[in-house]
Amino acid sequence: MHILVIGGAGYIGSHVVKALLLNGDKVTVFDDLSTGQQINLFPQAHFIKGSILDTDALGRAMCQNVDAVVLLAGKKAVGESMENPAKYAVNNLTGCINVLNTMLECDVKKIVFSSSAAVYGAPTYLPIDENHPLNPTSFYGFTKLEMERLLHWYDTLKGIKSVALRYFNAVGYDAEGDVKGLENNPQNLLPIIMEVAIEKRPMLCIFGNDYDTPDGTCIRDYIHVTDLADAHVKALKFLKETGQSDIFNLGTQNGISVLEMVQATEEVIGRKIKSVYESRRPGDPSKLTACAEKAQNILHWQPLHSSVENIIRTTWAVYQKK
Ligand code: UDP
Repeated sequence: MHILVIGGAGYIGSHVVKALLLNGDKVTVFDDLSTGQQINLFPQAHFIKGSILDTDALGRAMCQNVDAVVLLAGKKAVGESMENPAKYAVNNLTGCINVLNTMLECDVKKIVFSSSAAVYGAPTYLPIDENHPLNPTSFYGFTKLEMERLLHWYDTLKGIKSVALRYFNAVGYDAEGDVKGLENNPQNLLPIIMEVAIEKRPMLCIFGNDYDTPDGTCIRDYIHVTDLADAHVKALKFLKETGQSDIFNLGTQNGISVLEMVQATEEVIGRKIKSVYESRRPGDPSKLTACAEKAQNILHWQPLHSSVENIIRTTWAVYQKK
């Protein structure tokens, strides 16, 4: 299949591109390189520099016998979305509408969409399955949910079939070292721990140690980006074979606390991670874990690379070189 990967130069997108190439697909990457990086581009994939806000550029990319779209482009920092909702409304919502309208124009009828566990909000039960109530507590989560709803309507009205993949906490790097780009000013836990390890930051601030968890720090479900990438290949296969739309959680079903992640990193890399406790970060639920049985049963997907040790080892391999 010829797959247009929108946002294919980003952290998750570049891993998806690698997985598609290994699967034998023809890949075109469409990315404005605002957060994606040139260094993440694979020479085997055709690259078009363009923004999802530029409908002409999208049209030129899409009308080249594209069989399916993978949409990863968008803004993803929860905190920033609360301070600057306009940026998230335009990039995520308008961007998604532009992609869907261009798909209609070019008669492309399959899309895999990168959604997020942020669509659920504070959990009412754990692990969270796909039937859990949808009450996002951030504007970012709201945009992801609205994008899922757009997909639903474009399916009902126009027959565009979609798979929305609700990622839990994406971490890790390609084990072969083919993805080298580090995120600028990362906001997530593991890249921040790594920046402390290489002394790019003085210390890690742990947001809260008074949660209702065994060590008082928040628990999350960390999923290796190579496992996420594999799910996109399987989602495209599902679309091709069933012609149906669906939604899947992607997580390990295991929770790891912030302190456990810090301690595991110290053990794997043999360096001390300086940290201090700070007050809670607004909107952080104490515990989030995924029920990913649906993806396992229907997509035949398994998180094979998501041991804590492998997550840390593959991330350190990239940060160590900086
Ligand atoms: N966290 C932290 N310090 C940081 C960044 C994150 O203590 O500098 C915590 C955060 O409060 C959460 C967990 O690490 O409990 C994972 O946060 P991240 O931002 O990576 O992902 P999120 O769960 O918000 O999607």
